[in-house]
Amino acid sequence: MLEIKHTLCPSCSVGCGINVVSYNGEVVGTNSYKRHPINEGKNCLNGRNSIDMYKNKLKNAKISNSDVDFEKAIDEVSNILKSNEPEKISVICSGNNSIEEVNKIKEFADSNGYNIGFYADNFVNIAGDVASYDEVENASNIILIGDILYENPLLGRKIVHAKDNGANVYSFVENASVTANISNEVCGSLDDVLDKIEDSSLVIYNHVESSDDLDKINDITVKNNSKLLAVFSKCNSKGTANIITPSSKEEMVDLLNNSDVLLVFRDDIKSEIDFDYGKIKNIISFTPCSNSTSDVSQIVIPISSWLENDGSFVNAMGLTQEFKAVIDSDDLSEIEVIEKIQDKL
Ligand code: SF4
Repeated sequence: MLEIKHTLCPSCSVGCGINVVSYNGEVVGTNSYKRHPINEGKNCLNGRNSIDMYKNKLKNAKISNSDVDFEKAIDEVSNILKSNEPEKISVICSGNNSIEEVNKIKEFADSNGYNIGFYADNFVNIAGDVASYDEVENASNIILIGDILYENPLLGRKIVHAKDNGANVYSFVENASVTANISNEVCGSLDDVLDKIEDSSLVIYNHVESSDDLDKINDITVKNNSKLLAVFSKCNSKGTANIITPSSKEEMVDLLNNSDVLLVFRDDIKSEIDFDYGKIKNIISFTPCSNSTSDVSQIVIPISSWLENDGSFVNAMGLTQEFKAVIDSDDLSEIEVIEKIQDKL
């Protein structure tokens, strides 16, 4: 029997709805969630490919790259945690986790005295009034920092609507990019594009080089009575930032330098933070499918994927969105895995 169930796309922080299509209980693909208020029946390629996170799910726990019994891997994790000093154990949280999972990860780290790190695209200090997506469509002066149209196309669609309605669009982005193509002017520096801000503008960014640049964006936007929209690369980075203070790249490197044991929850920190991960004695990944961090982990614990969980997250404009599991699963959730490990400590 063909079944279509609604959920949320986990592939960026825009918060689009997506339909998951199953046939006789097997997930076969996605299609557009026509009535969803954010994306109104469209999903980008990243959204459509998000199904791969489920299709490529790990089947077994691993120790040193060999498949092992799940319980044996959990025992090994608890042995490692018990035999190391808490201050040398660090937990990496992620915007890929739901609000409920972030709360559990924080409780686990705090109650055991572990360090906790959370990296959110180097957006360490978000300030100012946050714009809604409706305000994007109705804006008259839009400043774009980063290739929003390519990386967050369903938000990009709203920027195109604003342009069609007469908005001026200025960007600081590569010349050969989709965002450059729709801009009235591509500026050569951050300062130049920030000069285009006038009263009641809208500043949208998905990339900043440094904390100083972010402070500059925040200051100039607030001074000009304008609004900001920070678009994170992960679905719940904004919700996670409400619970755990985000760290800069430099702070993350300091944390890694101080860690003998690294517990990575639903994240691929190696792809974002340049570091010699071979220096860390034990890396343990909790992930539904393999990634560059799990490839360098001594232990990999499979957890259920986004399709198999209920939960909530906060999208880029600050709206809390709830989702329901769209497929039954016997696999343990991240929360159940953490509880299992905690019972053994
Ligand atoms: S814009 Fe983001 S949330 Fe929307 S479908 Fe694409 S990846 Fe998913």
